[in-house]
This record gives sequence, C-alpha cells and structure tokens, in this order.
Amino acid sequence: MVLRLSQLFLRTLREDPVDAEIASHKLLVRAGYIRRAAPGIYSWLPMGLKVLGKVEAIVREEMASIGAQEVHFPALLPREPYEATNRWTEYGDGIFRLKDRKENDYLLAPTHEEMFTLLVKDLYSSYKDLPVSLYQIQTKYRDEARPRAGLMRGREFIMKDSYSFDMDDAGLEASYQAHRAAYFRIFERLGLEVVAVKATSGAMGGSKSEEFLHPTPVGEDTFVRSAGGYAANVEAVSTVVPADIEHAELPPAEVRDTPDTPTIDTLVSAANELAPRADGLAWTAADTLKNVVLAVDLPTGERQLVVIGLPGDRGVDLKRIEANIAGHLGIGGEVEVEAAGDEDLKKHSLLVKGYIGPGLNLENGLLGAEAASKILYLVDPRVVSGSSWITGANQAGKHVFGLVAGRDFTWDGVIEAAEVREGDEAPDGSGPLEIARGVEMGHVFQLGRKYAEILGLKVLDQNGKQVVVTMGSYGVGVTRAVAAIAEKYHDDRGLIWPVAVAPAHVHLVAVGKDPAVFEAAEQLAQDLEAAGVDVLYDDRPKVSPGVKFGDAELIGVPIVLAVGRGLADGVVELKSRVSGEAVDVPLEQVVQQVIALRDSL
Ligand code: ATP
Ligand code: MG
Repeated sequence: MVLRLSQLFLRTLREDPVDAEIASHKLLVRAGYIRRAAPGIYSWLPMGLKVLGKVEAIVREEMASIGAQEVHFPALLPREPYEATNRWTEYGDGIFRLKDRKENDYLLAPTHEEMFTLLVKDLYSSYKDLPVSLYQIQTKYRDEARPRAGLMRGREFIMKDSYSFDMDDAGLEASYQAHRAAYFRIFERLGLEVVAVKATSGAMGGSKSEEFLHPTPVGEDTFVRSAGGYAANVEAVSTVVPADIEHAELPPAEVRDTPDTPTIDTLVSAANELAPRADGLAWTAADTLKNVVLAVDLPTGERQLVVIGLPGDRGVDLKRIEANIAGHLGIGGEVEVEAAGDEDLKKHSLLVKGYIGPGLNLENGLLGAEAASKILYLVDPRVVSGSSWITGANQAGKHVFGLVAGRDFTWDGVIEAAEVREGDEAPDGSGPLEIARGVEMGHVFQLGRKYAEILGLKVLDQNGKQVVVTMGSYGVGVTRAVAAIAEKYHDDRGLIWPVAVAPAHVHLVAVGKDPAVFEAAEQLAQDLEAAGVDVLYDDRPKVSPGVKFGDAELIGVPIVLAVGRGLADGVVELKSRVSGEAVDVPLEQVVQQVIALRDSL
C-alpha cells in the first residue's frame, strides 16, 4: 500500500521540543514519529510504528532462528510472584505499584523472570520437555529516576525479553551462547555497532552476564576497552592487584603533627616538608591512603556507615561501589550509596573529618580506636598486605606515616571502589584501557537456579529424580533501538534511516502543480509498490516544493525521487539521502534503479 502524505496522520514540526537534548529525541518528535504523553512516556504515530514494526520483525526473525518461541504476558501483574523473589521490595522506587478495588497489590512489570518461570513450571515436568527458550516483545514499566533523551530511557518502553530453561550448566551455556550470537546478528542488521562487555548482574542475581553496549557520546554507560579485545562495564572492571609486599624490615609507623592538612594535596605538601622520602623522591597522592565515608540506608531502616580506604590519587566511583557492596552488607539487591553528611560524621567521635584513618574496627589497633564502632571498613584491592601508607590518625591535625597494611591495620573486606582510569591495565593483560561511552542495547544473563529454586521449577531427570531447572534471561531494548538508530543516522537536516528499518524505501515527491506530474508520479508509485518497493508518496496538491523537500529530509526515507520539470524530457531525479548524490533517470528505468540503489545501501 502506497503511503500518501495527503492522507497520512503526520505533522512535521519546525521547532525542537523544549525538553529535548539529543538529536534523536528532537528529530523523532519533529519528523512526526512519536509524541510525548508524559515524562518518559510516548505515543507512537503511524510513521513511528512502521519503524518500530521493522525493528521488531528483525528481532523476531533472529529469535526464531535460535528456536525461541514467542508468547505474551500481561504488563499488569499480581504482587505475589515478585514478593516470592523479594523483587517487590528490592526494586524500591524503581517500579510502579498499584492496588485493585479490593485493595490487592499489583505492579506494572519491569521485567518478567517470575512469570516465565511459573509458566514453564505450570506446563512442563520432564527432562524431555527441555531445553526450551521463550520470549515476548512487550511493554515494560520502570519509574526511572531520570527519564531522559526521549525513547532512550523511558518509563514505559518496549523490550524483547527471552528466557531459557535447561537441565544443566552445559545446556545453559549453549542457550546463552545462542542468544549472544543472535544479539550480534540483530544489532548488525539494525546498523548498530555493539561491544559485549562483562557486567555485574545487579538486581537480577545470577552469575555470568554481558551487556551489549552501543558506543555513542550520548550514552549514559561508561565502559572500558583495551586494544587486545578486553571490554567491560566500568562497574565490572577488576583491578590488577599488586603482589603482597614483604614488611618485616619496615620501620614502625609514626604519628606526626600535620596541622591544616585536611585534603590530600595539603597532606602531600606537608609530608614532603616534614618527612621527606629517604630515596630523595617526592611523596605523591598515591602514597596516601584516603578514607572516604559513605552511607547506605539499609532495608532495615538503619543507616550504615562505610569507610572506604583507597590510594589518595584516586576518586571513589559510587556506581562501582553500588555494584559491589551488597555482599559486604549482607543484603541482596540494589543499594544506593551516598557520601556521608556532616550529621553522619557527628554521630561517630572517631570520624574526624580530614584526618580519618584505618583502625576503626581494631580492638587494640595502632590508633586505639574503640572496638564498638559499627562502621564497616573496606579497602581498595591496591591496599595489599605490606603496603605502607601515609594516612589519617583519627585526630585533628595528625597523620600517621608508614602505616603498614596487614601489620598495623586490617579491614572488613576488599571492594572495587576506585575510579577506573584511562591507561589502567586491563585485568586480562591485554593492554591499557581506553574509556568510552555507550548505551546499553541488550543484556544477557546466566541466571542459574535462583528463580527456579525460589518458585519451585523442577523437572524429573532421566533417573526419575527431581532437578531444579537452570535459566538464562536476555533482553533487547526495542524502543531504545529506534532511538539509537535515529541518533546514529541523521544529519543537521533530518533523519537518514538505514533501509532495513526505514518507514519506506522511497520518498516520492510530486513537484509543482502540473497535473501531468501528479499522474506520472501516481503511476510510478504503483509500479514501485508492485515491484516490492515501499513508497511514501508526497501527493499533497498545494504544498510548495521547498516544504516538500524539507519534509523529505526531515522524515529521512533513504531514497528521494522527485517528479517535476524533468518529466518533459522523460526523466525524474533520483537522490540518495545517504550520499546526497542525485542523478536524472529516464522514467522507464526508475524502478530498476531504485531497487539497485536500495539494495546497495
Ligand atoms: P539501563 O542500565 O540502561 O538502565 P538496565 O540494565 O536497567 O538498563 P535491563 O534490565 O538489562 O536494563 O533491560 C534489558 C534492556 O532493556 C536494556 O539492555 C535496554 O536496552 C532496555 N531498557 C532498559 N531500561 C530501559 C528504559 N528505561 N528505556 C528504554 N529501554 C530500556
Ligand atoms: Mg541491563
């Protein structure tokens, strides 16, 4: 069916929407693909649905190619399954909860592990039924703290989520690899370069997990990569740990007066003045142990203070800490960590701002800290046994020099807390790390048996024994993909869709007022459609050529065909929106040349 602009429910806009910061957001609204309904919530217009439909079709084909079968769950779900897995609570403010008229609790699902697990449990009971992979393309709801960038981070969005069910670890690994490979094919077909990075699994639990990040300056995720092929989410980077150091010969630690040295810079200057290094080199921030006080509001309502000790030349990275701290606190799920405030510090006499040192939990520690302190003390992996530090003495105006880890102080745990820097070594020895920005397009997890265990998904094995099924969970951001494609494929005049997802292959423009032009254009539209080319035909009778061409550029169909004055000489103009090149083509060759150009793009 030829799409006719005279009929199409479409209004292009001259002005950028006021809330839009990035190009894809501006252009998708201005070109009439989507409309904002509320923050992070969008309506889809006919042209938007065309693109969305093409993206979904690619996802469906690739899911079918690995044997995954499509189902569809409601978005509105009862509390109980999410209560069972504790996610009703763990999601915190991140989900929409509601009540029905009988005061029963419901939620708008942020993801569907529980429901898929229960569905398979309902219907399958034997090893003969497995493996199976099921998926859906479905609307998800998350009350994101910062819905932004249009479709990139919505509060309502479409996700393709699949779940694999296997008897054993080898089966799960195979299902995981099949999904992983399908994801590379999906993003390749969508025209989106992706890097699979090692990730932490956050609220999902489970073990192995990779994110598919599309490198883009507008991305909110920071990741690292090395020339040798290592790639990881910053949260998941593990520090290359130096070897333990022999400390038998090291001199005892010494507390010194260091007045007015509440910052690392002032401390380093003071250290170089008061106690220059024996080897003539200068002390640097890396020789100091900085102790940063953070606070976590526990699910119990308690506010737990955590002190993190790390080399003074590095900042703390709260996201890395959040990804790695739950185990240290003895809780599951997502945790929010923030810098402790003055109020927090005041409650603990040991915390002397600017002069905080380790020893907080040592009964008879060098620094004489009171044992009763409930402050958790975690250190960066670089604080290895035998390493020697200049650090706070837990008294105003005093620091301790030569404080040796493992000899003079201990810690409750080791945590990846420090910022990762450009040039740091990759943990697999594949060279220095480079830092890049990206947006997460997909995510693959080996969930393992966590959900099956909790929800009782077991099947009989060959020996008639009940075994817990092992699962994987795999997501693709479908609406986010539309935004990422728009972000990558545009210029200052509008969108430039890759053919695979374009709302039409050709934007046919009838230029001027001559009825012969409209007749010829109409015929061309029919011929193109008959040859399998999707046509958007600008048949609007009283619209100026300038407006028509402006709209064509904004809307971004990859091939523009103009029927106008050239008709008298039997030619029409064929223009590639991708290369900008235009050629006159004889009328009788148009269909063939359009197809050739389309297939070459
Ligand atoms: P992010 O880190 O970007 O918030 P996530 O890790 O919370 O994403 P998953 O739970 O892994 O997301 O969801 C699977 C996929 O769904 C993501 O890889 C992403 O492409 C998409 N997605 C997640 N949240 C949103 C959102 N708010 N808007 C649009 N797409 C989203
Ligand atoms: Mg994710």
